[in-house]
Amino acid sequence: MATNKTFTMIKPDAVDAGNIGAITKMIEEAGFIIKAMKLTKLSSERAGEFYEVHKERPFYNDLCAYMSSGAIVPMILEKENAVEDFRTLIGATNPQDAAEGTIRNLFAKSIEANAIHGSDSDENASIEGSFFFAGTEMF
Ligand code: GDP
Repeated sequence: MATNKTFTMIKPDAVDAGNIGAITKMIEEAGFIIKAMKLTKLSSERAGEFYEVHKERPFYNDLCAYMSSGAIVPMILEKENAVEDFRTLIGATNPQDAAEGTIRNLFAKSIEANAIHGSDSDENASIEGSFFFAGTEMF
């Protein structure tokens, strides 16, 4: 069942580049309501847990090292058709393939340091949101 919620996090490359404000502005202007948000950092163990589904992929260790290399901004977002619309807003995984005007097109540095995460299903949005915000009050 559609929940109208999705989960995102601004990744270390975009936080380091000073793009938290520009990215959250794009998210809000696209009609998403920020229901939960914080600035935090993952240990490599926690990054490994978050990306457990990619454990067998060749870039898994690099991805965990990268995702624990600096601060991140996880958020829960609300909008009708949130998961699909947010994937459209962020663009393709590889910034070279990301459509013009998407967040990854504008801010990503590489296929790995690609500025932002967006859940790929309602089920994963719920799992990933709980990973960071279990027990947190939503507004
Ligand atoms: P997403 O749903 O668009 O984030 O893409 P995936 O679920 O396929 O991959 C998760 C994350 O792993 C991506 O957002 C990238 O940060 C990273 N990633 C994906 N493919 C590659 C790759 O080929 N090489 C490296 N180094 N990282 C990758």
